[in-house]
Amino acid sequence: MPKTDRIAALKDEITTWRRDFHSNPELLYDVHRTAGIVAEKLASFGCDEVVTGIGRTGVVGVIRGRSSGSGKVIGLRADMDALPIEEETNLPYRSKVSGKMHACGHDGHTAMLLGAARYLAETRDFDGTVVLLFQPAEEGGGGARAMIDDGVMDRFGVQEVYGMHNMPGLPVGSFALRPGPLMAAADRFRIRVEGKGGHAAKPNETIDTLLVSTHIVTALQSIVSRNADPLESAVVSVTAFKAGEAFNVIPQTAELMGTVRTLTPELRDLCETRLKEIVTTIARAFGATATVEYERGYPVTRNHAAQTEFAAGIAAKVAAGAGAVDLEVPPTMGAEDFSFMLEARPGAFIFMGNGDSAGLHHPAYDFNDEAIPVGVGYWATLVETAMPAN
Ligand SMILES: [Zn+2]
Ligand SMILES: [Zn+2]
Repeated sequence: MPKTDRIAALKDEITTWRRDFHSNPELLYDVHRTAGIVAEKLASFGCDEVVTGIGRTGVVGVIRGRSSGSGKVIGLRADMDALPIEEETNLPYRSKVSGKMHACGHDGHTAMLLGAARYLAETRDFDGTVVLLFQPAEEGGGGARAMIDDGVMDRFGVQEVYGMHNMPGLPVGSFALRPGPLMAAADRFRIRVEGKGGHAAKPNETIDTLLVSTHIVTALQSIVSRNADPLESAVVSVTAFKAGEAFNVIPQTAELMGTVRTLTPELRDLCETRLKEIVTTIARAFGATATVEYERGYPVTRNHAAQTEFAAGIAAKVAAGAGAVDLEVPPTMGAEDFSFMLEARPGAFIFMGNGDSAGLHHPAYDFNDEAIPVGVGYWATLVETAMPAN
């Protein structure tokens, strides 16, 4: 049976898996049910190896081609975790767990990679090895890093890695990607300012923490407007400001929180350095003190040039007739855990159309099952093209 027909024939079954994952969302590393089903299915498809517990709850499946003389090993990654969101849909397969929801489509990503595993294990029409990487904790938990720290790349000899994310607003059948930075580095900061509290009627006897903090918030805006190269992108957002509780009291302390998003390591360093300088020197200017906790989160998701060109060619084959491939999609300031895999190995991350759905992380979002054959086709074509059978 030709590949597209075989994949089309699997669509209903993959849809069933996807909807089952959707009904049973799990958060961060606590993806025991999902990982269990993934491991069980991989084994039932006849994968050569299935290993659980990598990066706590990550699962790896290995499929060797009809021959492996090429010595090539390609890693394909899907994420399994959901979000702490209350679902607001009336879908028959809506979340059964209050306060948890697959609002980022990782149910679809997991189901599609399982579908590809089934097809590849059945056909084995390639010369090399495929390593399927099912990771936990994409949504802020660094599950990809945990799997890498557990040695997943070396242990399975992964040479290149590929990842995929659905994209609302992009038509089903279409793809979008770009070489270089595709998604931002996401860092977080917490600033604690301490002045001298006191009676609001005697400000002269206080060091007004609140006034100091507002100057800090204002001055932080100068990092992007005055320090960053205007042709580069950066975001510095203060997202929480906690100080004071009464009409007549100047508070002793204040706490600010926020996020920094950048697309290059240089700008990332610059933002961190300037943020710390601004906070401490402004506090000092007013006679207050301030501390900054700056935590580096996901790095820049940076696509490698050769693998991106290759992935774009695969996307063009799969999209033919159904959609288009945008090779110069603008980067987004969102962040992705797959960035760690792209730091560990060359590879490419691609966006795949989810059609006219609610946005990612929205309570009415749903993965579009019509995209399933497109995603599975992308994985299968990628493997068979990168490691052609003789
Ligand atoms: Zn997400
Ligand atoms: Zn996601």
